[in-house]
Amino acid sequence: MIPFNKPFLTGKEAHYIYQAVYSGKISGNGLYTKKCQAFFEERYGIKKALLTTSCTDALEMCAILADIQPGDEVIVPSYTFVSTALAFVRQGAKIVFADSYADQPNIDPASIEALITPRTKAIVPVHYAGVACDMDQIMDIANRHNLLVIEDAAQAIDSYYKGRPLGSIGHLATFSFHETKNVIAGEGGLLAINDERFAHRAEIIWEKGTNRAEFFRGEVNKYGWVDTGSSFLPSEIVAAFLWAQLENLDMIQERRKQLWNQYYTTLQPYAANGQFTLPVVPDYATNNGHLFYIVCKSLEARTALIAKLKAEGVNAVFHYLSLHSSPYYQAKHDGRALPQCDRYANCLVRLPLFFELEPASVEAICQHIIR
Ligand SMILES: *Cc1c(COP(=O)(O)O)cnc(C)c1O
Repeated sequence: MIPFNKPFLTGKEAHYIYQAVYSGKISGNGLYTKKCQAFFEERYGIKKALLTTSCTDALEMCAILADIQPGDEVIVPSYTFVSTALAFVRQGAKIVFADSYADQPNIDPASIEALITPRTKAIVPVHYAGVACDMDQIMDIANRHNLLVIEDAAQAIDSYYKGRPLGSIGHLATFSFHETKNVIAGEGGLLAINDERFAHRAEIIWEKGTNRAEFFRGEVNKYGWVDTGSSFLPSEIVAAFLWAQLENLDMIQERRKQLWNQYYTTLQPYAANGQFTLPVVPDYATNNGHLFYIVCKSLEARTALIAKLKAEGVNAVFHYLSLHSSPYYQAKHDGRALPQCDRYANCLVRLPLFFELEPASVEAICQHIIR
């Protein structure tokens, strides 16, 4: 059986965890946390990076920093993971779902402006499969309406928009190190703060509503409860694992992109006959080898393809169920149809893609699909 995913270990994870455990400091915000945060700040030009226990937690921090009040509206694509919307719903937001482009699953900026009302606070573009949304258009809309842009860059490590790193463009951005992502820590995430107005408060929210981080830097002589917050920072054990991955980021990216390109070039001649479509990477975007998918012509075609691959020992999967028609949100949705989102929910298939996948396996998977 070729699995859909297999977490990749660089070999240094247990070593750095050992170092962290015997350093005498295993709670958060220690040596490895600082190494990981500095990596994002230096390599991607992020003003301030804070490691979190997940991307979901980083999104919850964004909802607090955006000062979302009950009834405030947040524009989110419907074709995304639950957390993109849930983090804002927990803070009382009403989610106004946007549709995807016809040729790829990212949010279509042309649909955003009509969704803005006096209660709109933020737009949350998701860089699906690590491919950039059209950030110039989205930032322009946000600036004209005085809205915050929070990039859900969960899948978008080391990917670019017109040469600018994803996660460095919106006012705030979030990354994930869940074991299904390119760079992993089991469970883990990161909040990227690009608008310095949020830097001070973010650190307090991160540290359970206290100014402990300032205290440890010697900036105040006692610390206490000064704001809302939670325990959003991971332990040094998680950060040590993550550091072993970040150190090898270039190697991980290169391998994943090779496999992605192999899928693309092998399947391309067969996509031309109209049975399925391939991922679209616009000129302004890069591919970071996070995820390879094809879009079938119908739900029936997809179901048949997944069953055929399974019979051949290949575990291909689909995602996401449209959030606007989910059991939790359907009754709260304003009833607008989002046909592109529904089409991706019904017709998109994700193929196995992980560091240790063999090129011979990619070839075999492609041949099954072609047959
Ligand atoms: C994986 C993912 C998340 C959630 O990340 P966690 O670290 O598991 O909380 C959120 N949004 C998107 C688009 C994702 O792919």
